[in-house]
Amino acid sequence: MISKDARTILEYFQSLLNDLHTSPVPPENISSDNAFIALDQTIKTIRNSAIELRNGNLSHDIRGRGYVLGSLKNLQASLRNLTWITKTIASGDFSQRVHFLGDFSEAFNSMTEKLESSIHELEEARSHFEMVFQTIPDATVITKVADGTLIAYNRAFMEATKFTDVDLTVGLFNIRDLYIDASQRESFIKALEVNGFVENLEICFYGKNNERHIGLVSSKKITIEGMPHALSVIRDITELKAIEAKLQQSEERHRLLADNAADVIWTMDLTGRFTYISPSVEKLRGYTVEEVMAQSQEEVLCPGSLIQMQEGLARAINSVQNGLPFQVYRGELEQPCKDGTTVWTEATVSGIYSEDGRFIGMLGVTRDISERKLMEEEIRRLSITDKLTQSFNRLKLDETLEQQFDWSVSYGLPFATIILDIDHFKLVNDTYGHQVGDRVLIELVEVLHDNVRNGDVVGRWGGEEFLIIMPNTTLADATVMAEWLRQAVASHAFTTAGQVTISLGVAAFATDNAPETIVSRADTALYKAKEKGRNRVEVC
Ligand code: GH3
Ligand code: MG
Ligand code: MG
Repeated sequence: MISKDARTILEYFQSLLNDLHTSPVPPENISSDNAFIALDQTIKTIRNSAIELRNGNLSHDIRGRGYVLGSLKNLQASLRNLTWITKTIASGDFSQRVHFLGDFSEAFNSMTEKLESSIHELEEARSHFEMVFQTIPDATVITKVADGTLIAYNRAFMEATKFTDVDLTVGLFNIRDLYIDASQRESFIKALEVNGFVENLEICFYGKNNERHIGLVSSKKITIEGMPHALSVIRDITELKAIEAKLQQSEERHRLLADNAADVIWTMDLTGRFTYISPSVEKLRGYTVEEVMAQSQEEVLCPGSLIQMQEGLARAINSVQNGLPFQVYRGELEQPCKDGTTVWTEATVSGIYSEDGRFIGMLGVTRDISERKLMEEEIRRLSITDKLTQSFNRLKLDETLEQQFDWSVSYGLPFATIILDIDHFKLVNDTYGHQVGDRVLIELVEVLHDNVRNGDVVGRWGGEEFLIIMPNTTLADATVMAEWLRQAVASHAFTTAGQVTISLGVAAFATDNAPETIVSRADTALYKAKEKGRNRVEVC
């Protein structure tokens, strides 16, 4: 049985240890006992130390000896150490480990190990990103969407804009100051907000010293620290644009020249298809550019000219295939028109070469030469026409004689000539005057033309002598014709002069060795006719 006093003492110590919020009063009759005072003191020290530890006061000085106080001291030291380690982790050192808290140590260490490896991975990823970011050949920036503040930029951005690291101090530099056109900035931000990305948006921006740039911007909205940012890649196309503009300008200039030239300018590929025709073709041939583009070569050129052009171009292309330069082709060509007529043109065709020297097509200039052709024909007509009688002249007679002679020699065909002379023409001049004589000459030619066959050539041989060349005609047929002509002239009533007669000499191609000998034989016959009394036909 425990005495009443002993029970009171136990209850006092029990409430001292169990109830930390109250301060129990020690039993009066024994509170001065030395053993009681020593025990009371020890329990109170344990109680206070426990309260301080519970409150997290790790600097509380735990004094006294004994197993319980020693343990409390150790616990306090462990917590102090743990606090220091935690602070070290918070400052970024994840290598901390604990070895004094049993299971807790193990959990704690595995947490710091995981943190350490995550941070390591994060570092690696960051350095990879940095490397990629810096090696992107196009200017790349990260900016805050809200206000345009520059967050990151790469070397290519510095090279493109010429800004230095000092100029671009992160957080101070604002990308929005670079826009030349505020409306482009607005449309960029809007597109980014609506779609979350921007693709190949053309933007004009300033570099350092305000030089102007044109950039093709592609951008993606990303989130950094919960805030929307733009990761933008800018391809500087300033130079490209300048070259493009120059090219377009020169192309426009050439097109302007070609489109307005009076000549037809055209290009053709190696398959013979037109690749360009200037609009002046419509004035030349009546066909529109579209119609000509669809035409075959047979529709573009008249048959004779087609062969001529094809042969010429084949020669030119052949020389290219043999490694020689394209020989400029020049030819006079007849081309069909929409209204069914034809037009004479002169085409000059040269080769087109690629920058690396390959022959890739032809460039042609076609000029209307119909007027020149008419003029040439007129000159030719005048050169072979006798001015007074409008019959052929000596030049044409000589040419025809030579041609007939060659044909007869080559093909054994007959041909004949009649030379005729007005009888006593001097008397006509003397009686009626020179003008009446001229009139007789003109009318004589008309009579001759009315009576010869198609294909017979009538010309003035000289003075009042005329020569008729008759292709494919024998001596007998020519003699009949001569007699026919003699009668026709004799029966014609000449203006003022009345009746005029002619004498005729006939000769045909035989064993002659030159065209002149035929005429001289006819001339001999004529002389004979004169001698025999005139107004008659004699044959050589
Ligand atoms: P014959 O019967 O022998 O031929 O006598 P002819 O008078 O005709 O011969 P001749 O050769 O003596 O005379 C030729 C004349 O023709 C001389 C010349 O004045 C004339 N005559 C030559 N050409 C022309 C011309 O263009 N106009 C005129 N009116 N007369 C011309
Ligand atoms: Mg004469
Ligand atoms: Mg005469």
